[in-house]
Amino acid sequence: MATTTPLPNAAVIWGRTGAGRSWFWSLVASAPVFLAPLTSITTFIVLTAFHGSFSAFFAAVAEQGFWTICIRYGPQLTLRGIYAVAGWVAIQALLFLYLPGSVHSGQYTPAGHRLKYRLNGLYAWVITHAVYFGLSWFGFIDPGFIPRNWSSLIAAMNVAGLLAPLLAFVKAYLSPTHPDDRKFSGSFIYDFYMGIELNPRIGRDFDIKFFNNGHLGMMIWTLIDFSNLAYQYQNRGHVELSLILVTALQVIYVADFYVNESWYLGTIDIAHDHYGFYLAWGCFCYLPTMYTIQAQYLGAYDPTPAASNPCYLGIIFVIGLAGYLLFRSVNDQKHAVRMLQGRCRIWGKPAEYLVAPYTTSDGQRRANLLLVSGWWGLSRHANYLGDLLFSYSSCALVGSTKMVVWTYAIWMTLILVHRCLRDEKRLSAKYGDAWTEYCKRVPWRLIPGVW
Ligand code: NDP
Repeated sequence: MATTTPLPNAAVIWGRTGAGRSWFWSLVASAPVFLAPLTSITTFIVLTAFHGSFSAFFAAVAEQGFWTICIRYGPQLTLRGIYAVAGWVAIQALLFLYLPGSVHSGQYTPAGHRLKYRLNGLYAWVITHAVYFGLSWFGFIDPGFIPRNWSSLIAAMNVAGLLAPLLAFVKAYLSPTHPDDRKFSGSFIYDFYMGIELNPRIGRDFDIKFFNNGHLGMMIWTLIDFSNLAYQYQNRGHVELSLILVTALQVIYVADFYVNESWYLGTIDIAHDHYGFYLAWGCFCYLPTMYTIQAQYLGAYDPTPAASNPCYLGIIFVIGLAGYLLFRSVNDQKHAVRMLQGRCRIWGKPAEYLVAPYTTSDGQRRANLLLVSGWWGLSRHANYLGDLLFSYSSCALVGSTKMVVWTYAIWMTLILVHRCLRDEKRLSAKYGDAWTEYCKRVPWRLIPGVW
């Protein structure tokens, strides 16, 4: 075990970046506020109206113009879609509020708060799916409701994904939960995009960010997959192995998330990212529409020869499973060393770590452990590598070279590479010498020997 020298108090600059940017760079950085909804709408149109072909879509846009295509084929906002999304949020809010769960502490915030979270996601996930299967079985709901009403659901989710950060923005000014944990960049648009409050709450316990990410975003993912399975069965009279395997991989990923929910409290989403458009729209709209493209595609179109080949599907499924196991094992090692204060074994040996001191804005000196053995001694973000293997395998199960099918994996590559860079900038400011020492001991960011 090595210990580094304490940092001066000037290191209290960690948390979300972005403060002090010029208005121009704030606008550039916030471009996803405009571009992200367009991406979700475009993908919907490509999938539903152009057989998943971007080139056919662009040819039509060149001929008729983007807005004509959007109006003709784009998502339609209907009362049915609005009621469905509002009902979904209300039911999940009730489960979040009233289901029992063990209470866990999050990480220290930049202002030195340590919040408590009641973790009942697994119960909520099981109940939500049991009710869906039960009501479908007894004929009270159409199990293929989601793909059948996808247009109005996407429209309503886009509206909700814009409303939520708007309300959070106003709340941050009028009624902040922890005023000392707010971060203002000096640009309204950037603050709307990346959020002002770190952990906005309604009352003492209703954590808006945790609910949005963990209970709205993750929960709907597997429901969309199952609904596409049902839709395929309704249309063809059977279900394809490719769609069963896509659903199985994603069920493993989502169930794992809820089984290990306390681990989520130490991730960037909950511990470091503020609640704005990026997280709100991302979990409300981007995740349900883009992470499920494989199920949407397979539910709607005939399988390709590759997707009908059990040998190909079996190999890809095993690679996806290996990605998931890597992801879980890396995340478990970090969680264990932080929870047990380093008193744990990694790969059969006592954990090796650096003690990294830092200062919160209340002036308190604190310290975290940076694991330098196990996966964390090979690469600083091996968990991202596991996630990438998993997401590329999910897409490969569709067996198509169409770009739209790969959007999820391409997105994961962009978001995780960007995360490596922005997280390390923050950690360098937070831990100073200790972070430099860690980077010397573990020089690779993602793939040992490559980057
Ligand atoms: P991590 O879980 O790796 O958390 C990063 C944080 O861990 C750092 O900010 C730092 O926090 C701490 N840390 C860094 N190095 C060490 C170390 N050596 N030892 C101990 N702690 C360390 O990253 P994410 O939150 O981004 O991702 C969590 C998981 O979620 C990943 O597996 C990722 O693949 C997945 N993910 C999935 C997404 C999806 O859309 N499906 C999107 C994003 C992530 P501190 O300040 O506390 O030191």
